[in-house]
Amino acid sequence: MDIGFIGLGNMGSHMARRLLEAGHRVIVYDTRQEAIGNLAALGAIAACSPAEVADAAETVMASLPTPDIVLKVASGPGGVIEGRRVRRFVDISTTGAVMAQRVFKLLAARDIVQIDAPVSGGVSGAEKGTLAVMASGPRADVEAVEPALRVIGKVFFISERSGAGQTMKLVNNVLSATAMVASSEAMVTGMKAGLDPRLMLDVINAGTGRNTMTEDKIAKAILPGTFNLGFTAGLLLKDVNLFLVEREALGVPTDVIATVANALKLTCDELGPDADVSAVIQPIENRAGIKVRAPDTQPKR
Ligand code: NAD
Repeated sequence: MDIGFIGLGNMGSHMARRLLEAGHRVIVYDTRQEAIGNLAALGAIAACSPAEVADAAETVMASLPTPDIVLKVASGPGGVIEGRRVRRFVDISTTGAVMAQRVFKLLAARDIVQIDAPVSGGVSGAEKGTLAVMASGPRADVEAVEPALRVIGKVFFISERSGAGQTMKLVNNVLSATAMVASSEAMVTGMKAGLDPRLMLDVINAGTGRNTMTEDKIAKAILPGTFNLGFTAGLLLKDVNLFLVEREALGVPTDVIATVANALKLTCDELGPDADVSAVIQPIENRAGIKVRAPDTQPKR
């Protein structure tokens, strides 16, 4: 199958590579020439704009950082909307339901179907093809792209309604973000009280406090002090804020998640939006005057 792929960053580079390895002809574009070059070296065809990608493939996927960039790439000048061959635009980025519905309508006017298919599972999931893919859009169109989506992960059909996959993704991510912030506060407190961080993780992971932060992220990126999960605090704050916009329209009280947004904002303010998400522990450590580190810790795999 011919597949266009726009956005070759931490996630997109792995997904595009997997599509190539699965035997698809992949046409790629990114604003960073280096990212295009890396994929071209693996056999991808380089394009000069989103429109050129959409001239060359019926299915165009995108893994882009923010809703505004998705809007521009999909429907702006030189965007996917101007492509002569494209029939389906599969947005793997996290944009929120409001933007997904907006892009759906704009593209529908040109007979292009937008499918939102955001993913969860991090860079390691993208690398191994084990992401959770949350697809929504007309069922026949989702089924048409499902074989390609299966190359990047496990496909869940969420709804025919545009934006439902995005809502599902935000519900997942606010839980992930809450676990990160709460686990950071708990670990710093335990350590300041004199507990060993590795022992704490062993006990928590054998008990009821376990979550993806305690099972994976702390041992991988915080104890060794590498802070390299490959997802920025700025992008996670974007997701939590998108959730808060959706919950406001629905009138649901979400005080805990608003507090999580504040913790992420503090991380972005103090360390910059490009800091790794695992650095959310650092403002807490700095105020407590202690660091949760055990450099000789081998990540459990
Ligand atoms: P990233 O910043 O590493 O990659 C984004 C890529 O888009 C970059 O290569 C950038 O050069 C490119 N880009 C920016 N503007 C562009 C434009 N106008 N045209 C073409 N390319 C452009 O981000 P990422 O971590 O790969 O995340 C991508 C999306 O996936 C985001 O929406 C994010 O929220 C979501 N996501 C990320 C993770 C993760 O763990 N990193 C997990 C799940 C979902």
